Amino acid sequence: MKSIEFQRFIDLVTFDQTLVKIERDIEKSQEIQESLMLDIERLQADFQDVKNAQLQARKAVDDKELAMKILDVKEADLKIKLAAICNQKEYKSLEKETLAVNAQRMEQEQQLLTLWNKLDGLAKTYDFKHKLYDEQAAQFQAQVEQTKNEIASLQEQLLALEAQRLEKQQHIPQEWLDMYVNMKGRVNNPVVALVGDACDACFYSVTPKDLQALRQNKMLQCKECYRLLYIA
Ligand SMILES: [Zn+2]
Repeated sequence: MKSIEFQRFIDLVTFDQTLVKIERDIEKSQEIQESLMLDIERLQADFQDVKNAQLQARKAVDDKELAMKILDVKEADLKIKLAAICNQKEYKSLEKETLAVNAQRMEQEQQLLTLWNKLDGLAKTYDFKHKLYDEQAAQFQAQVEQTKNEIASLQEQLLALEAQRLEKQQHIPQEWLDMYVNMKGRVNNPVVALVGDACDACFYSVTPKDLQALRQNKMLQCKECYRLLYIA
């Protein structure tokens, strides 16, 4: 026959296991949430890179177009001057300059084509990544929301249980509670039942004398692992 105190104590231990499980579930959910936030940050950074690359390519095209406009004006200017010149020597020199500007412009035109192609490719990548980003960000955000709700619900359960725990702790000898609190900080299962006269956690056999004490509702510590032992 177990004493009422003892039964209450075992109830408290069993109850605490539920409590610990909820605490661990909260920790796990919080870890998931943190990892999701990191995923979202990574996704944003990736997308920002694509955005920046496209902006840079756009700027390169704009710069090149501006440079070409300047060359266009220069070339047209030279052609007008060329048409007005009569002096043969001056004409030759201006013609040479005009040809050089023309060659420069053609070269710039080639470069502009390459830049346009690059911008085109990046614009396609941007569109693709933008769609992907929207989808994935929405997915992650929904998961974050779900995890947040789970954590809130678990915390609510925990609060309710903690209130119940105070009640369960009453009428249990302080000495037992102290021993229990001590062990609780060190192992997950601070109180274990005897199985075949041995500690169920480390399998250390208790002495016949200890066994007798346990049968008389004494609380004993396992000599090997120091867990609290009882007879189920
Ligand atoms: Zn043990």
